[in-house]
Amino acid sequence: MESGQIKRNTEEVRRRLDEAVRLSGRPAGSVCLLAATKTRTPEEIRACIAAGIDACGENRAQELLEKLPLGAYTGKPVHFIGSFQTNKAHLLVGKVDMVESVGSMKAGAALGRLSAEKGIVTDILAEVNIGCEAEKAGVVPEKAAELCELLANTEGVRLRGIMAIPPAGEDGTPYFVRMRELFEALGKNLPAHFDTLSMGMSGDFEKAAREGATIVRVGTAIFGERNYGTKK
Ligand SMILES: *Cc1c(COP(=O)(O)O)cnc(C)c1O
Repeated sequence: MESGQIKRNTEEVRRRLDEAVRLSGRPAGSVCLLAATKTRTPEEIRACIAAGIDACGENRAQELLEKLPLGAYTGKPVHFIGSFQTNKAHLLVGKVDMVESVGSMKAGAALGRLSAEKGIVTDILAEVNIGCEAEKAGVVPEKAAELCELLANTEGVRLRGIMAIPPAGEDGTPYFVRMRELFEALGKNLPAHFDTLSMGMSGDFEKAAREGATIVRVGTAIFGERNYGTKK
């Protein structure tokens, strides 16, 4: 998509997000607008950065590593939001500012070990399978406390919060409410830096913001429809 259109789309998303935050009575600027940049070119990503998004999120380690040296994300933090494969963890450690999709202790342990070896700490979110869908990644809500406690005690990672991708094609609000309740309950037993609730995409980011999201992840509403066939 052409840069001017990306700029207009980004400004419109920002306006809608600000309005949702205002209506919910939360302080201005309390939600991070993360651009979901999978399949987008460095030029397209730079256009949305120039228009004022707060962070970028990529789904595939390889794609992230290709675009990073091309300056695709310059000036903004990069999060990994894709399905996390433990055997790709070494590609991400030290390259990304946060891994949002840590759905198991095995994944957290691998990130922790590789980070500790490099002498760094990687910020992570625990991914929650809030709709308890058979095919979805993440920990089921009933097991979230156990996973979070383990991750919070893992060297090399800093557990910052939780993220979810609710079932497609359903109203997101009940899931966002459940995520916020879970986030608040978990937070009682975790350090103050457990402060991040990542939920909401193009179709429902305003609802998510109203229910307490601190990160919304928006792709299509900024860049238009994705075309997996011609670009990767
Ligand atoms: C692609 C993606 C998004 C953004 O989806 P859109 O519907 O295009 O806004 C958000 N989160 C994750 C994890 C994604 O993979």
